[in-house]
Amino acid sequence: MEIKQYDYKREFNLYADEYKKKANEVLESGWYVLGDELKNFEREWADFNGVKNCIGVGCGLDAITMTLKLLGIGPGDEVIVQANTYIASIMGISQNGATPILVEPDSFYGIDASKIEEKITSHTKAILVVHLYGMPCDMKSIVKICEKYDLRLVEDCAQSHGATYEGKMTGTFGDAGCFSFFPSKTLGAFGDAGGIITNNDDLARRLKVYRNYGSSKRYQHDVVGVNSRLDEIQAGLLRVKLQHLPEIIQKRTRICQRYLDEINNPLIELPKIRENSISTWHQFAIRCKQRDLLQEYLSENGIDTYIHYPMPPHLSGAYRYLGLKEGDLPITEEFAKSLLSLPLFAGMTKLEQDYVINTINEFSV
Ligand SMILES: *Cc1c(COP(=O)(O)O)cnc(C)c1O
Repeated sequence: MEIKQYDYKREFNLYADEYKKKANEVLESGWYVLGDELKNFEREWADFNGVKNCIGVGCGLDAITMTLKLLGIGPGDEVIVQANTYIASIMGISQNGATPILVEPDSFYGIDASKIEEKITSHTKAILVVHLYGMPCDMKSIVKICEKYDLRLVEDCAQSHGATYEGKMTGTFGDAGCFSFFPSKTLGAFGDAGGIITNNDDLARRLKVYRNYGSSKRYQHDVVGVNSRLDEIQAGLLRVKLQHLPEIIQKRTRICQRYLDEINNPLIELPKIRENSISTWHQFAIRCKQRDLLQEYLSENGIDTYIHYPMPPHLSGAYRYLGLKEGDLPITEEFAKSLLSLPLFAGMTKLEQDYVINTINEFSV
C-alpha cells in the first residue's frame, strides 16, 4: 500500500465538481483581481471566525509581515516568537528590520508562556504566537503578559484554521490573526494565498490600502505599499472549500483520534491536547528517539511522512546573524531531531488508517 503524507489530489477530488464550476465561473466573469469573490470570501472568513474584518493578501508570510509593519514594528524593535516554528513566522518579523527573540516551546509545541517574561526588554513591542500543528497556544497566560507589558499580540494561524481555545477562535485574542491558505494548509487554496483577521477597523482599512500599492482609490496613492492581493480564482475556490471546512476538519480529527487511541508503540510519544483547546490537527506530529530509523522503515512500507521541521530556524543560514549556536535552544533542537508527521488528509480511507497504525505499532529497533 502506498500512502502519501498529504494527498492534494484526493482532497481536491472530494469536491472536484464544485471547484471546477467555480473556477470556470471566475474565468468567464472577465474580472480577476480585487472583485466580488474576494469581498465575499473576506466577509465569510471574518464571519466564520466571529470577527469584524478580514483582509485577503498574497500569502501567509505577507500577512505576518504587513500586520507587524502596520502595527508600527520596525528596526530596533524586538518581537518574541517561539523558536520551533516554520521559518516564515520569524521572517515576518525580520522582514520589517525588527529582531526576533526566540523562546523555547512547551510540551504542546506552542511557545512556553513561563519563559516569555525573562525575554522582555525595553525594546520588546510584540509577541507573535504560532498555533503549531493546529494546537492553540496557552492564550490565557499570553494575553495576561501582553496586557501587563502593553505589548501587541499577533497570532500566526497558518496551521490553526478553526481551532479554538476556551471556545474562542485562534486569531481573535490580540490585534490580529494571520493565515496562510497555501495548498497544504487545513483551509488550502490551489496556489499561494493568505489573509488577516482583526476587530481593529483602522488596522483593517490600512491593510487594505497597503496591500494594493498604498491605494484607496484608483491611481491615488496615499502611502508606499506593496502588491499582495488574494486573486479572484483563489478567493472563489477558498469559498467553495470553506463551505466544507467543518466536514474536512471532522474527517481529519477522526483520523487523529484513531491515531491517539490505537497507536500504542512504547517507542512513540503521541501529541498531547492542551486543556480547554480544540486542535484542528494541521499535522499529527509524533516523537520518536529513533525518528530517522522510523521514517526509513515507514518509507520502505510505502508510508510517506514529513519532518516539521528538520532544521530549527536559529541554526539555518538565514539567522546565523542572531549569533545563536547549537545547544542554545535545546528543546527546540531535540524536537527537530525527534518529530515526525504522519499521513493526514481528508479522504484517507479506513483501510489506509489501519495500515498506518498497524505498521507503526510493529516498528521495533
Ligand atoms: C505556512 C506557514 C506560514 C507561511 O505561509 P505562506 O502562505 O507559505 O507564506 C507561516 N507560518 C506558519 C506557521 C506556516 O505553517
